[in-house]
Parts: sequence; structure tokens; C-alpha cells
Amino acid sequence: MKLISILLVFLACNTSSRPADSATTSLDPTPSVEITSDSIVPPQYDAQGKLVKVTKNKEEWKKQLSSEAYKVLREEGTERAFTGTLWDNHEKGTFVCAGCGLPLFSSDTKFDSGTGWPSFYQPLNKDCITENEDRAYGMVRIEVECARCGGHQGHVFDDGPKPTGLRYCINSVSLKFVKQ
Ligand code: FE
Repeated sequence: MKLISILLVFLACNTSSRPADSATTSLDPTPSVEITSDSIVPPQYDAQGKLVKVTKNKEEWKKQLSSEAYKVLREEGTERAFTGTLWDNHEKGTFVCAGCGLPLFSSDTKFDSGTGWPSFYQPLNKDCITENEDRAYGMVRIEVECARCGGHQGHVFDDGPKPTGLRYCINSVSLKFVKQ
């Protein structure tokens, strides 16, 4: 009798958990990646060597981010020049995605572009950046996104300094600075 009860409990738990699992898979962030916006959360790779992504729905991002950060990271907005907190930051450290903590840029490659936005001549790791063609406002630009959470960071231009000649022009609000 006891064995039958245990079996029934097991079956009840097992069947009731299935619909919940399948219903939340597409909405939940990947459980193995802890979501935090002000510390370094290193990239993780799956068995195929692909970067493990973070996915959240609109409501979840709105809950996590300030309205300004949401506008820039999730709606491809641009903060006003010289208004962010990081364009004039000269400290040593790492700049991580404000959405998921992925390390994107180092202070070693930051330079003063005079634009009023934090500018870097290269990302920390090309795998952590996605570049897309952006044809908004009658211009052809290359948009830069965080490769893990898809958060909009800014644009990359080919008028940067040596050694790359590139200028990653990034919104302060898309980044968090982690001091060395
Ligand atoms: Fe991110």
C-alpha cells in the first residue's frame, strides 16, 4: 500500500511539472547564468562552443532596468552626449553590459574621442559583441550589441585611433564600470 502511495505521488509530481517546464522555457533566462548588472558575469559556452544567451521578456527587462537604460538597451535609444556617467571615466577596470554583466570593454582600450560618449578602439572579446547594419535616420551605420542579451550598446565607426582604426561609440547607460 505504501509503495502504491509513493508511486502515485511520484507520478503526480512528474506529470504536473511537465507543462510548467515547457511553458516557461522560452521566457526564463538561462538558469546557468546569474543575471546581475553591476558585476562581471563571464561568458559561458555550450558544448558546441556557442555563447550561452540570456533571454528575458519585455516585462522582465522593464523590471530590471531603469527607464533610461531600458530605452537605450532594449529600444536602441541614444543617451545625450556628455550626460552619461562613463564618457569621462579614466579609472582602470572593466566595462560590462548593464543588462547581463558580460565583460565588453577594458579601460586599456578606452580613449578620449571628444564625442561625449565612452569610446574604445576594440572590444575585450569579439565573441561578446554582435555587429548589425543599421540603416536608421538615412545613414548606414554598424550597430553594436551585447552578444549574450542582445542589449544595444552603440555603434562602431572606422575613424578610431591606432592600432585598430576603430571607434566603438558606446552609451554610458548600456555599461556598468567594474573597478580593477
Ligand atoms: Fe548583455
